[in-house]
Amino acid sequence: MAGMTYGSLLDGDSRYMGYALREAERALECGEVPVGCVIVHDGQIVGKAHNQRETLQDPTAHAEILAITQAAAHFRSWRLEGAKLYVTLEPCPMCAGAIILARIAEVHFGAFDPKAGVCGSLMNLLEDPRFNHRPRVCPGLLAGECGDILTRFFRRIREGAGIPKPRASCDDI
Ligand code: ZN
Repeated sequence: MAGMTYGSLLDGDSRYMGYALREAERALECGEVPVGCVIVHDGQIVGKAHNQRETLQDPTAHAEILAITQAAAHFRSWRLEGAKLYVTLEPCPMCAGAIILARIAEVHFGAFDPKAGVCGSLMNLLEDPRFNHRPRVCPGLLAGECGDILTRFFRRIREGAGIPKPRASCDDI
């Protein structure tokens, strides 16, 4: 797979994906599809969010979009040059578009999404040379853990246990 860089990953990358996983856990507790994202700049976390599509009833409330909005607010700038994004699931077309528009330097994702992922699965938007900005893409970071939490969520639904009731804190990031 093009872009695989396991050997060059720093410990820091796994640590940041750990924070993204923690966000995914929060999504799970809120009855959301468990996807979490953090954005890091110069070693500082400037955006941190989990999927809130159900809570907000907003089709654009994916973890990456919410985290990008936070990071842009932090810098008071839409340009997130030099930022690294860590997300537990391969980004969809909307999020990949936002990543390109924000000029994010590097994207680490965990599990591949064969149904909606466009960073290697259905297509590869982030590495398409026709766009004038191309982030570096590092797939498969903590892929097992990132996939497990999704499996847990969908198994729960299949088994008829339903979706857990959102807690009051689900609106808080
Ligand atoms: Zn998305």
